Amino acid sequence: MVGIGRSGSLCKWLRTVKKMAAKKRLSKLLHEAIGIWHSKESKRFRSEAKSVISAGARRVDEFQLGRIRQICQIAYDHSLFYRERFQRIGLRSFENLTWHRFYDVPVLTKSELRENLLLLKSDAYSLDSLRVANTGGTTTSPTTYFIDWEANERRWAATNEWDKRIGYSPGQKSACLWGANQDIVTNMSWKMKIVHKVIRRRLLLSASPLDDETMYRHYEALKRWRPSFLQAYPTPLAIFSEFMLKQKLRLRIPAISVTAEPLLDRQRELIVQAFGVEPFNWYGAREAGRIATECEYHNGMHINGYGLHVSIDRAGNFPGRDDTGNLIITDLWNKGMPIIRYEIGDIGAISHDPCECGNGMPRIMRLEGRCADVFINSAGQRIPGVSLTNRIVADDSEFRELQFIQTAIGEFHVLVVPGANWCQATSPGAITKRLEEFMDESLRVTVELVKEIPREKSGKVRFCIGLNGQEHACPANKRLGNWNG
Ligand SMILES: [Zn+2]
Repeated sequence: MVGIGRSGSLCKWLRTVKKMAAKKRLSKLLHEAIGIWHSKESKRFRSEAKSVISAGARRVDEFQLGRIRQICQIAYDHSLFYRERFQRIGLRSFENLTWHRFYDVPVLTKSELRENLLLLKSDAYSLDSLRVANTGGTTTSPTTYFIDWEANERRWAATNEWDKRIGYSPGQKSACLWGANQDIVTNMSWKMKIVHKVIRRRLLLSASPLDDETMYRHYEALKRWRPSFLQAYPTPLAIFSEFMLKQKLRLRIPAISVTAEPLLDRQRELIVQAFGVEPFNWYGAREAGRIATECEYHNGMHINGYGLHVSIDRAGNFPGRDDTGNLIITDLWNKGMPIIRYEIGDIGAISHDPCECGNGMPRIMRLEGRCADVFINSAGQRIPGVSLTNRIVADDSEFRELQFIQTAIGEFHVLVVPGANWCQATSPGAITKRLEEFMDESLRVTVELVKEIPREKSGKVRFCIGLNGQEHACPANKRLGNWNG
């Protein structure tokens, strides 16, 4: 009887092992099948993307100008909006378009995009032959845009290529510590859960709320799942890193990437201390795909020059910062609805200096938040706020998280998640002093203590809210107290 029991257990065990092996094979097979089904041409696009991304600066420049000439010609021939726009500045033929003339093209604003959808769309495509997608809507309401399927495939090809460079290939086990509630597994149907876990092999973890109990559960889940790659918003990952360090917990994840919010220096340090690897920062937008990605030197983000051309509009007034301005984006492939010189709503600085890694793509050196996150001083000068948060949080354990809200010229409201060394008697005064130094004028400042900085609907944290970003600010929650200074 004992023997039969043992052989019964053995059979059961073997069956489980077989099932597990089959599941693993099936998962890989499904992945490959979906890749093939996605596009027969995706392999060609991937190899093209790889070749451009690996090219030297000169070839990248030639490639981009060539693509811009083609996409402008397509826009002129098939989009009423651009035909009129180009004619107004005397542009009718694009065969010999120079960079200089290209920069004469007025920028396309978000509101122009929203109000002229059908005029922007190419008349060579019917509406139902295009992919319909939405722009992000953190500071403005989201709007629809169209993209042709070939351009969409090329966008994925470029994303895959950049991801490979930071340690992730489709099919590998990954995990996300994500702030966007709509993407979180608790809200998903069982079918979507299967797609995520078995096909995409991705574990989704919610970044809100992040109390000790939740973080311990996340830690256990990550330990069981053993992902090769972790993707996260910087703020929750920094909080999670701090928790791991405090609890002396260890996790080995070979590659980590962060996106969606500016990565502060202090956050980067915490992540390195907790995981032993430096996170790769990348920048993207729904209407543009992957815009820029860090290389192994972590000194700025290389622009995705295969898919996009990115430049700086220096018309903005940023005192003492010649390299800083509004980022202007041109999609090099979208023929369904050309996006030419589009003002994406973020502020940054671009460098064309060669990078130590040898990649020829220019780099976005600093991403200074959104245009709505800019402060204005009494002289009318515009000052990107993110660097202020970076400076204050980086060198002080009094503050764990901060949000600066400009309420009027010369007036600020500051939300503070207190750090270990917070001192009610001196810390609020220190914030005011540093804010005054940064703005170079005396200010009226109110400081409010909170348990966490409220997140946007998108799940992102805004460190700074300028005067033109007020209507989009979230109400503060979980208030602990007020201090006026
Ligand atoms: Zn590099």
